Amino acid sequence: MEENKKKAIRLVLENTKKALIKNGFKAEVCEGKEEAAEKILSLIGEGKKVGMGGSVTVSQLGLPERIISKNTIYAHKPQMSTEERRKTWLACMDSDFYLASPQAVTSDGKLIFIDGTGNRCAALTWGPKHIILPAGYNKIVKDLQEGRIRMRQEAAIANNIRFNKKNPCVISGKCEDCASPDRICNIVTEIWKKPKITEYSVFLINEDLGY
Ligand code: SF4
Repeated sequence: MEENKKKAIRLVLENTKKALIKNGFKAEVCEGKEEAAEKILSLIGEGKKVGMGGSVTVSQLGLPERIISKNTIYAHKPQMSTEERRKTWLACMDSDFYLASPQAVTSDGKLIFIDGTGNRCAALTWGPKHIILPAGYNKIVKDLQEGRIRMRQEAAIANNIRFNKKNPCVISGKCEDCASPDRICNIVTEIWKKPKITEYSVFLINEDLGY
């Protein structure tokens, strides 16, 4: 990325970090993927139960393969039956750390997630002791309204394409608010301030990552 643009985005990330901290979350700005990955690995340490919500950003940071060597990971796989998924998601609820990436982070420090099944939205609000949320600068939006548009018109469409879904948005390129049985936009979680008991660490990264 061009150097001046990178510096300008850094200012946006620093302002968003301050807003997140004001809302009770821990937040850090990282210049790139490697810095974020190192910080997250050091936070998790070893011998922990780590749940994962199936995030492109988490994969782009190379975290699953690095965490699994020293910890126990709970993450569903495509070949799992519904019952196996259910057991995995219940194990995630009792994890020491849970990793996911928000669909949007507002400039006033709120977090937005969208989910088809609800396992991720459930784990993000209560259960795991510590939620870890890496997010590229592309996830920063002005406010909740802009975030709700982003999660449907950008993130959900890219995820539909990733999962090879046959929903109308993959043809039209815009959310049609479909009634498809394969719809992946069923539950929205907005975390406005840090919920009691659970810890949240947000890593804002100066790179374009995930959806
Ligand atoms: S509601 Fe339906 S059309 Fe809209 S983004 Fe989600 S899956 Fe696609």
